[in-house]
Parts: sequence; C-alpha cells; structure tokens
Amino acid sequence: MPTTARAYVADSAGSPLRPGTVERREPGDFEVQIAIRFAGICHSDIHTARGDWAGVSYPIVVGHEIAGIVEAVGPMVTRHSVGDRVGVGCFIDSCRECANCRDGEEQHCLAESIRTYNSVGRDGLPTAGGYSTSIVVDENYVLGIPDGISLAAAAPLLCAGITMYSPLRNWDAGPGKRVAIIGMGGLGHTGVKIAAALGAEVTVLSQSLKKQEDALRLGAAAYHATSDPATFEILAGHFDLIINTVSADIDVDAHLSLLAVGGTMVMVGLPSKPLTLRTWMLAGFRRNLAGSKMGGIRQTQEMLDFCAARGLGAEVEVIPASQINEAYERVLASDVRYRFVIDASTF
Ligand code: NAP
Ligand code: ZN
Ligand code: ZN
Repeated sequence: MPTTARAYVADSAGSPLRPGTVERREPGDFEVQIAIRFAGICHSDIHTARGDWAGVSYPIVVGHEIAGIVEAVGPMVTRHSVGDRVGVGCFIDSCRECANCRDGEEQHCLAESIRTYNSVGRDGLPTAGGYSTSIVVDENYVLGIPDGISLAAAAPLLCAGITMYSPLRNWDAGPGKRVAIIGMGGLGHTGVKIAAALGAEVTVLSQSLKKQEDALRLGAAAYHATSDPATFEILAGHFDLIINTVSADIDVDAHLSLLAVGGTMVMVGLPSKPLTLRTWMLAGFRRNLAGSKMGGIRQTQEMLDFCAARGLGAEVEVIPASQINEAYERVLASDVRYRFVIDASTF
C-alpha cells in the first residue's frame, strides 16, 4: 500500500519551508522502505529550496543526508533486512549500464543518475528527499550504517562525508601530504576529520579565527584566517592538495598560490555564479584545478565503514523541523557548528 509520509515542503524559491505530506509508493520487488530518523541540512538543500540553481521544480521536498531504519522490503531484496540501520545520499538510482555506472561512479552516470530530490523517478513521479518520515529506494542505492556511529552523526556523512572522502582518496591524502580545507562548515569539518584520520597534515583556512579551537580538536594541525593577508604569504607554495568547500565567490588566484609544484585544488563548493582565475596561476608551479561531485555507492560504503571503524561522525546540532528556516539562515551566516540534523519524528 502506498503511504502518506509527513514532510517539510518548499512551495517556491521565495517561500519558507512548511509542514506537508508526500506520497510514498509501496516497495517494489527490489526496493526498501526506510523509516527516516534523521535528515542533515546540506547547503545544497538551501541552494535548491531557494532557487539559486536553475531547474528546480516546486513544490519540492529536499534532503539528501538520510539515516534511518529499514521498515519493509520488497520480496526480491537481499542486501538489507527489516531493522537494519541504513542511509541514503544524493542519488537513488542510475542507469547501471553505462561505463561510469559499471565503474562504480554512479554519480557521473552518462544517462544521469536519479537525484534523491529534484529528479523524476523511474515511476515517472518527482523524487522527494529526506525532509520526510519515510522513503522508498532501490536496495542497490541504500547504504549500510555500521554500529560504530549514531544515526544522527552518520546522516551528514551521506553527502558531506562522501563529498570530502572521495577527493581525499582520489588525490591520495595520507601521511606526508599537506592538505588544506577552505571553509569549515558541514563539508569542511567532516573533511578535517577524515583527512586527519587518513594521516594527512591538515590545515583549515577559515574566514576568521572563530573556529580555531574546534578545528584543532577535530584533528587539524594548523589553522589560518583568510581575512589576514599574511596567511597568503606564510603559506605560499605549501600544499599538495586544497579542497575548497566555499559556496561563495573566493579569490581563486590567491588560493592557487598556496599550492606546491604539481599540487591540486579541488572545487567541491558550488557557487551559483562563475569564478574567474588567471591561467598564469596554473602554469606557474604546474598547478592543477579540479572538481569533484559526491562519490559512487561503493566508495560511499567504504567511507561509512572507514568512519564507523574510527568512531568518526559529523558534529551535529539536532533540531526539530519547526526550526529548519531559522537553521537555513544560520548556515548562510556560517553560524553552524557544524551540521544541522533534523529529528524526523518532528516532521
Ligand atoms: P556550509 O556548511 O555553509 O559551509 C560552507 C563554509 O564556507 C562556511 O561554513 C564558511 O566557513 C565558508 N564560507 C561561507 N561563506 C563564505 C564566503 N563568503 N567566503 C569565504 N568562505 C565562506 O556548506 P556545506 O553544506 O559544507 O556546502 C558547501 C558547498 O558545497 C555548497 O555550495 C554546497 O552546495 C556544495 N556541495 C557540493 C557537493 C559536491 O558534490 N560537490 C556536495 C555537497 C555540497 P568558515 O566560517 O570556516 O569560513
Ligand atoms: Zn549535499
Ligand atoms: Zn549510468
């Protein structure tokens, strides 16, 4: 039987989120129905709900950092059982046949993966995300959450965690590597924890000194404020890898100047406006500029297992759904320590 789930809905780019409902289908043969316990607030939810990016179809239920418990499974499901702790991230399906899907890079599916929200599902209906009490997802796109982390701390790993883990692994962050993370918000703080756990020497580049103590507690070896011009002198040519999580305009040239010869700056923050740079900044020191988007299912499970084995989760502030709009304002003001997670029982 289809069920009606409680949810929080954005009706238009300009309207605050409001309580509502969403219809969830009965799980198909290979599908899992999940009782959502926690949903993280990713900055991408805000970009989407507020129409910063083109192509949003309203009304919309956002949320792609989902942690919960399996409450029903279709008859052919073998990967998950009722009662399992599970998570869902940014996409819930893909073509499974293209070269990228076969390589475990489903987030880059050549036929376009089906996003957890703001997509059309295989049933032809708009997909609706994690700001709701339940969701139905194909078993192959559902991740297992090991016992080592609470569901609240695990939820943000499904987007923020994998978005940082993937470039850290793909660009070999580890012992002997100097890694900088620009912006210590939801993505940034999980990146600090994961990069430190991988053995890299981690530096946080934040706008101010306000988060210094926290950064060092989470595993950073150093911390500098980008508002201080001396930072760019002290750290010139210093890093092997820089990951930029900022969703606003940054001075790309100034940050590129911090890379060592052959170093790479990976853009994961997604500002709505184009950035500019001088190509000289790449030519000098043979620097690389790259981007990265989430991670595939296999790597996401690897990340969850890695984090759980080390007891690593996000630093979360759990809020009731009634505080979502206020939380959005605090994220926009860089006043989040370090991820808001919504208690799904309050939707
Ligand atoms: P967040 O929690 O808001 O963190 C962003 C951080 O950037 C802030 O906490 C702040 O850190 C810094 N910052 C904010 N405004 C700034 C400014 N004007 N100048 C310099 N620094 C600034 O956001 P998030 O959830 O981590 O997401 C960050 C970005 O990544 C968003 O654009 C989001 O859409 C994108 N994203 C991308 C992917 C992907 O797959 N590529 C996945 C998820 C999210 P400090 O206070 O430390 O400076
Ligand atoms: Zn996200
Ligand atoms: Zn594909």
